[in-house]
Amino acid sequence: MSRKQRRVLTRIIISSVLTLLFFILEKVIETDTWVKIVAFSVPYLIIGYDVLWGAVRNIFRGQVFDEKFLMTIATLGAFAVGEFPEAAGVMLFYQVGELFQSIAVGKSRRSISSLMDIRPDTAVVIRDGEELTLSPDEVKKGEMIIIRPGDKIPLDGVIVEGRSTVNTSALTGESLPREVSTGERIISGSLNLSGVIKVCVESEFGDSTVSKILELVENASSKKAKAENFITKFARYYTPAVVISAFLLALVPSVLGIGSPYDWIKRALIFLMVSCPCALVISVPLSFFGAIGSASRSGILIKGSSYMEVLASVDTVVFDKTGTLTEGSFAVDAIHPSSVSPDLLLDIAALAESYSTHPVAESIISAHGGHLDVSRVGEVTELSGRGIKAYIDGKLCYVGNGKLMSDVGIEWHPCHLSGTTVHIATDTEYLGHIVINDKIKESSKDAISALKDVGVKKTVMLTGDSESIASKVANTLGLDEYHSELLPADKVEHLERLISNGNTVAFVGDGINDAPVLTRSDVGIAMGALGSDAAIESADIVLMDDDPKKISKAIRISRKALSIVKQNIIFALTVKIAILIVTAIGFTNTWVAVFGDVGVMVLAILNAMRNGKQTDN
Ligand code: ADP
Ligand code: MG
Repeated sequence: MSRKQRRVLTRIIISSVLTLLFFILEKVIETDTWVKIVAFSVPYLIIGYDVLWGAVRNIFRGQVFDEKFLMTIATLGAFAVGEFPEAAGVMLFYQVGELFQSIAVGKSRRSISSLMDIRPDTAVVIRDGEELTLSPDEVKKGEMIIIRPGDKIPLDGVIVEGRSTVNTSALTGESLPREVSTGERIISGSLNLSGVIKVCVESEFGDSTVSKILELVENASSKKAKAENFITKFARYYTPAVVISAFLLALVPSVLGIGSPYDWIKRALIFLMVSCPCALVISVPLSFFGAIGSASRSGILIKGSSYMEVLASVDTVVFDKTGTLTEGSFAVDAIHPSSVSPDLLLDIAALAESYSTHPVAESIISAHGGHLDVSRVGEVTELSGRGIKAYIDGKLCYVGNGKLMSDVGIEWHPCHLSGTTVHIATDTEYLGHIVINDKIKESSKDAISALKDVGVKKTVMLTGDSESIASKVANTLGLDEYHSELLPADKVEHLERLISNGNTVAFVGDGINDAPVLTRSDVGIAMGALGSDAAIESADIVLMDDDPKKISKAIRISRKALSIVKQNIIFALTVKIAILIVTAIGFTNTWVAVFGDVGVMVLAILNAMRNGKQTDN
């Protein structure tokens, strides 16, 4: 509890003791009304002075109709009709509710800020042989930084010296530390645990993983769910309407001489209190906020509550294959040259791939292993879903799948080995092919069955890879549908077909050449965002680690948030309407109204906070 919260608590205790004391005394001793007014004013002012002051200040600022204003007229009205303990009581309950809310909001803020903890404060950079401690945004690309054990990794880069273990839990929710050594990439925002490492900076702070993630989380609240927007708009028109109705209710019958003015004023006051929309205004965003926080703690970044709404009703999940359902790191199984030496074939392939970030390219480059003289590479064109067109030593070369070969009119033949076949050719001659193989991710099968468990009707795989591989993966994983040998545009077409059939479709990809599909889907999920900038930008939901099992978890978190929101709306409205009806019939009791306002709000907040606690599977 903060100091401010503790001070409010003290005021609550003092004021409730005094209220209770005077309440008992009032029953026992016969006293004059003026004595009562003075006596109850003490606890009332102790607990309510800031509310009264806030209401007055807001009127001068032109924001008349807020909850402080409602509370002020409701309690002053209670004084006016002689309900002194009620006046103090309403103020008391209001403050209890406020205290409660501030604790709840603080709590879910903290859970998101535990993710914000990834922001590094300093970077130790080596310039002219000297170590300088700078702010991370002052370090340039290509500079060397030193990271000591216990330090946050300030910038993305490649380790050039040393080995260590890093903890990525703030980013991925994965608690096991990962071992890293020379040559490996490390990601800003994780924690260096055991060794001193020297790192060559790969991107400036503004482009680093940590900045992108922080930006994403900070902007999460701007993409509001329909329910959230509705409540904000609702309150803007609803509150003045309530205040005006209450005035009319107090005034019109009294002026017309129907019943006693005392009763009408009391009814109007109860109407006023019960109609306060606080329970919804506070609890709806809090439910989403808690869910976003809880998701981010397990490495699922949701860009806004609107995506949670969509995710909760997803019935079709469409996957990209490479890097999503499979590891995306291919091992080279065979090199089959036709007219050149195996080494030369691999050399040409690796040179052509040297600028590509596609998993196929990375695998061929790492199989080559040696130094690549990129000065031999001329103009390079990446042909999405097919391969690469590049000039090597001034000669036009093609590296890619059968489709690419057919497109450029080179005769080719499929390999008898199973695997992804990468063909290599010049514009006139077939040079040979390389067979590479990818592994299905260990958790993919569980991920698919977990999706079935949460009620997803259809799982689909779209891939640019060959029919034989696609069918193998689809059968192993138990997917409902697959389509192979697709270009990125074909993937969009398939997706549109699924959407136009009335399904709510989530697309899951690795962010490499599937940005069009990510954007076109109802909700785009990118995995393995650690390191892939494209994924963070084009997706609506980002899974920080490569685990496809997180998809069903994200669906469950979203559904829970939505059901809590629904429960709260229904609960609050039911209670309030019930109280209003009872009041209209003539049963008027201010304490019931207090429950209708503050009690409902507290219960709604408690309910909303349940979601923040969900950290299990
Ligand atoms: P997926 O749908 O499995 O993610 P892509 O659409 O990225 O696959 O690529 C489809 C196919 O295109 C790959 O299986 C590969 O045969 C070929 N391909 C794509 N990019 C490259 C590349 N850089 N080098 C060689 N082949 C490539
Ligand atoms: Mg892909």
